[in-house]
Amino acid sequence: NSVSKPPPSPSPLRNSKFFQSNMRILVTGGAGFIGSHLVDKLMQNEKNEVIVADNYFTGSKDNLRKWIGHPRFELIRHDVTEPLLIEVDQIYHLACPASPIFYKYNPVKTIKTNVIGTLNMLGLAKRVGARILLTSTSEVYGDPLVHPQEESYWGNVNPIGVRSCYDEGKRVAETLMFDYHRQHGIEIRIARIFNTYGPRMNIDDGRVVSNFIAQAIRGESLTVQAPGTQTRSFCFVSDMVDGLVRLMEGENTGPINIGNPGEFTMLELAETVKELINPKVEISMVENTPDDPRQRKPDITKAKELLGWEPKIKLREGLPLMEEDFRLRLGVARN
Ligand code: NAD
Ligand code: UDP
Ligand code: UDP
Repeated sequence: NSVSKPPPSPSPLRNSKFFQSNMRILVTGGAGFIGSHLVDKLMQNEKNEVIVADNYFTGSKDNLRKWIGHPRFELIRHDVTEPLLIEVDQIYHLACPASPIFYKYNPVKTIKTNVIGTLNMLGLAKRVGARILLTSTSEVYGDPLVHPQEESYWGNVNPIGVRSCYDEGKRVAETLMFDYHRQHGIEIRIARIFNTYGPRMNIDDGRVVSNFIAQAIRGESLTVQAPGTQTRSFCFVSDMVDGLVRLMEGENTGPINIGNPGEFTMLELAETVKELINPKVEISMVENTPDDPRQRKPDITKAKELLGWEPKIKLREGLPLMEEDFRLRLGVARN
């Protein structure tokens, strides 16, 4: 990390950080599923210093164990609902539980994380002049009446439902981002992330892909929530992280959908997991939760045109990569 050329004129700052081209990057929620994969990617660039701030609500140090002690890496136990005073160039703001069972567990905390947490990170961005990227969600489209969803669609969201702490919370977070951008000139980026899966997902977080894979490995029946015809589009985590970095480095504020447009019903997903992982398991129909969106598929025209990004990994390729990780963690070998 030494400076190759001296600065043009003598300066007392000659040997200081000011003349190094290092980029100091804060990743909030970096101990989580997507965040830890993002950290892996950012750490590959030797010019990056990465600081993770996480309260370990749904994330864990284990996801970052290969970086702990690395000279370009720092891990802080911090809750984003509290102010954070550090000096950084970029902020990837991911901190927020993403799985319904976790974000519904303490809904007031979830909305505080989305609103106060995002406000604090914007205050930080404003103070230090950093660029900030928010990981918003396809949930801002609610139970969409437009299909597939393009960014110009305003959504169909229940403001008082059990998912509102998350989806309305993210909508306010997006509003805050744009207000800081318009009022204070902050450089913002907004990604609307669609369902993402891959290694390091919480095994028991109740999300459909992690549930089905864990169930198939354990030989339990796959629990399709009724009616089973509802659809989702699943993006493998390496594709997701690639899209986030392109968005951060590019010139567009967004919001931009980042997701895989391959759309599956939950019954189709169950059939695929059964075929690939354990043909002996049964598929059973169980009760659903309120306000479950019936369909979801990203229109990724903008991501293709503005970021030159599209996902590479198909569901049938990604599921076995996740199976491998889950088998290791569950201690069940393939027979
Ligand atoms: P995750 O739960 O694995 O990661 C979230 C991380 O944020 C965890 O490490 C958690 O401990 C941390 N966190 C939560 N509240 C915090 C707080 N108040 N202060 C500090 N840290 C806090 O979830 P993920 O799947 O990695 O999601 C990351 C981001 O992407 C979230 O913002 C989520 O809303 C968004 N997103 C994810 C998906 C998906 O399918 N995984 C879809 C849409 C949007
Ligand atoms: N903030 C922070 N880190 C900083 C600067 C601000 O966490 O480096 C927080 C601050 O505590 C405040 C929020 O960000 O609650 C918004 O800051 P801003 O300066 O925009 O608003 P103000 O402090 O004027 O309310
Ligand atoms: N789902 C399911 N079985 C499960 C868990 C979820 O059929 O064991 C369904 C759920 O009803 C929803 C879809 O899978 O229609 C995606 O749910 P998930 O919680 O993974 O994500 P989100 O609803 O946030 O998209």
